[in-house]
Amino acid sequence: MASITLSHIVKQYGDGFPAVNDVSIDIADGEFIILVGPSGCGKSTLLRMIVGLEDITSGDLLINGERVNDKAPRDRNLAMVFQNYALYPHLTVFENIAFPLRLAKNKHSEQEIRDRVTEAARTLELTEHLDRKPANLSGGQRQRVAMGRAIVRHADAFLFDEPLSNLDAKLRGQMRSEISQMQRRLGVTSVYVTHDQTEAMTLGDRVAVLKKGILQQIASPRELYDQPVNLFVAGFIGSPSMNFLPAAVDGGVLQTPVGEIPISADKAQAAAGRPVVLAGIRPEHFEDATLVDPAKRSRGYTFTAQLTHSEWLGNEQYGYISFDPSAEIRQLLEGLARDMDAEELRPQIVVTLDASSRIRGGRPAELWLDTRRIHLFDPETGGNLTRDAEAGRALTSEAEAARKEEIGLARERQRVRVQG
Ligand code: ATP
Repeated sequence: MASITLSHIVKQYGDGFPAVNDVSIDIADGEFIILVGPSGCGKSTLLRMIVGLEDITSGDLLINGERVNDKAPRDRNLAMVFQNYALYPHLTVFENIAFPLRLAKNKHSEQEIRDRVTEAARTLELTEHLDRKPANLSGGQRQRVAMGRAIVRHADAFLFDEPLSNLDAKLRGQMRSEISQMQRRLGVTSVYVTHDQTEAMTLGDRVAVLKKGILQQIASPRELYDQPVNLFVAGFIGSPSMNFLPAAVDGGVLQTPVGEIPISADKAQAAAGRPVVLAGIRPEHFEDATLVDPAKRSRGYTFTAQLTHSEWLGNEQYGYISFDPSAEIRQLLEGLARDMDAEELRPQIVVTLDASSRIRGGRPAELWLDTRRIHLFDPETGGNLTRDAEAGRALTSEAEAARKEEIGLARERQRVRVQG
């Protein structure tokens, strides 16, 4: 097991463009870190530098405190975990798992190979399948075989590069939970690259959000969600995305396309001096006003708007309100969408409503908004003017404590299973 430290890591390719620009991350032993960001943000380059497939232009890479910049990949004792397409169809599960040990010619005795494969198979609940071929396994079992290969090497850390991107949505969900459970059970340090924010949020102890080679924020999923540092992180994390409404701050109210929203004195103060800010509001912080109880209702803002249309999903529904921003705001939203690799950021507000709501498109509707959850962003720098850094840190500390507890419990279960 290992800790991995990235200290001011830079990667410049031949053209001099910094694909990774001064990234520093401390990865604790046993931690599951996700590198996420849109295409071209440098996440694969960063992973390849950790594993040793790419030279580091400047900065230090430490594994367990030892600088490994100049070590060959095979001397770093890290395992890239490939998925089912990297299994050999003509070999049994046993031989597929044993493959990396056989590759290190004469390094391991036949008995040692047998012991390691048997042990890995027991951990992965593959013992009954050792004689089968990959074609006869389920997707989840193949996934476990791929992990088995990494386990038998007794690697210090597992590195995953977009392992699920070729799979359909259902299988992806299943694999995600397999990976998550195995990582916990093994307590092995893992770094996982994806452009999918759902994977990032569900798998990561902490998630590092990258944009154009620059680390924007690294924090627990909850901190990223509730206390994002800037517009990019706020917009990238969460689905449907956070809404961004142009707003003029006038005393204690925000003048917005949906009316005058009262805000707290702290928030008004944070935005003071800026003629226009962007109010960031997550879809679920709206509700059908008729479904909100009166006590709660008085703590937010109720307004009337017309939905263009709504989509009922069974457990909830989405409503859409369009608005007409100024040319400048439109340009800003388009730029943000480009940065996020999103199709487009339409000038519309998405609201998540309870499934029982009778609000439909085409008619005026009464909506409620939880004003305490609004963030205000500086449109020029993108910075979150109302971020509560302390509350954010508390969320990440909670996640850290939960991780330690989960790993402890998983190791205990594993010990009992092996003894049994
Ligand atoms: P994707 O999700 O599309 O794989 P990524 O976030 O993993 O993207 P990288 O593959 O790390 O991004 O690429 C980061 C930047 O470095 C991009 O601008 C890319 O064009 C550039 N780049 C990557 N590999 C090379 C290379 N071998 N030579 C020159 N530039 C490269």
